[in-house]
Amino acid sequence: MDFKQYDPAVFTAIENEERRQQQNIELIASENIVSPAVRAAQGSVLTNKYSEGYPKHRYYGGNQYIDVIEQLAIDRAKKLFGAEYANVQPHSGSGANMAAYRAFLKDGDKVLAMDLTDGGHLTHGSPVSFSGQTYHFFHYGLDPETGRLNYDQILAQAEAVQPRLIVAGASAYSRAIDFAKFRDIADHVGAFLMVDMAHIAGLVAGGAHMNPVPYADVVTTTTHKTLRGPRGGMILAREQYGKAINSAVFPGIQGGPLDHVIAAKAVALGEALQPDFKHYAAQIVKNMQAMCEGFAEDPRLKMISGGSDNHMVLLDVTGYGLTGRKVQDLLDTVMITANKNQVPGEQNGPFKTSGLRVGTAAITTRGFNEDDCREVAHLISAAIANRDNQEKLDEIRQSTLALTGRHPLS
Ligand code: PLP
Repeated sequence: MDFKQYDPAVFTAIENEERRQQQNIELIASENIVSPAVRAAQGSVLTNKYSEGYPKHRYYGGNQYIDVIEQLAIDRAKKLFGAEYANVQPHSGSGANMAAYRAFLKDGDKVLAMDLTDGGHLTHGSPVSFSGQTYHFFHYGLDPETGRLNYDQILAQAEAVQPRLIVAGASAYSRAIDFAKFRDIADHVGAFLMVDMAHIAGLVAGGAHMNPVPYADVVTTTTHKTLRGPRGGMILAREQYGKAINSAVFPGIQGGPLDHVIAAKAVALGEALQPDFKHYAAQIVKNMQAMCEGFAEDPRLKMISGGSDNHMVLLDVTGYGLTGRKVQDLLDTVMITANKNQVPGEQNGPFKTSGLRVGTAAITTRGFNEDDCREVAHLISAAIANRDNQEKLDEIRQSTLALTGRHPLS
């Protein structure tokens, strides 16, 4: 079958997207570039199969090979993170969070989680999400002085709120999270502790961030960010909660699992168990720190919390009199892809924003090193400073192409 002839419209759009990924510097902190093996698994015949249920307990016949694959994914996830239990069926990170809440909470229960504008996720109790509509969320934020979590303040809030569940984890927080401290806070008020490690799962797997599994009752994650697998979700937990979580995923909120995606998760988890994944995780952090050194040279870009311990940093761009949205659009013109983001104490609202979130996972995968990352920071500063100078912007675009040309996608 010649795909190009079979469906030229879709084929051409995919080809264009592939070229965009090849040429652009991808700094969206939640994105990555999967291996050819992950893509092969996801594009396989497994997409044809129905397999409601779990390995050896299915509602359909013909699942002997699907069982092998799902069990491999489960076993690898448990080994990688040192977990007693794993569920690899959630279709997404949001679905994983929904299932975890349903396993531990009743509608209306009190939950304490990180505020969206300070770096939390929509599913951590935003009023526009099922989470905020189903449960009674309270939020902790960042310390305005330091731009970091303040565990004493969180403890004081937990004492005041008396939540049934505390959620740790974020979508836009550039500092290490101390899960032992969260465990102490949860124990102090008799709450369950859930960690949403979606952003940092690859760093945890590679030993570049504290592992939440020994501390949390339940850990949710996506599989497609720093972990570098297919788009999807996963739940890890203590064995005692396994039955409730399994039921919450299926039949609670999902029907048939995406077996092709589960196979791709198994492949990605196998990759993360290889020794060189540790180098990749460490390099993500080194690259981020080099990028922060570059940003520190620009007094009009303010890094929230002053820097980063992980794969991302949040820049306040209002020193240039610009919004995050304007900078995102400007960077698109020089083939640098990043996303506007709210900053703590946001004054411009969620559509314009004051911030820009940048991450190093995808560029680390394609081989960028610290020098390249310092150069990326300089290109961003130069693009913003020369936003009205088309000649300069053209030069910056050429530098982007030179950098990505030196590090082609596999
Ligand atoms: N949790 C966190 C911390 C996230 O950052 C995200 C996605 O960005 C999610 C959950 C949701 O994942 P998904 O987009 O797969 O639903």
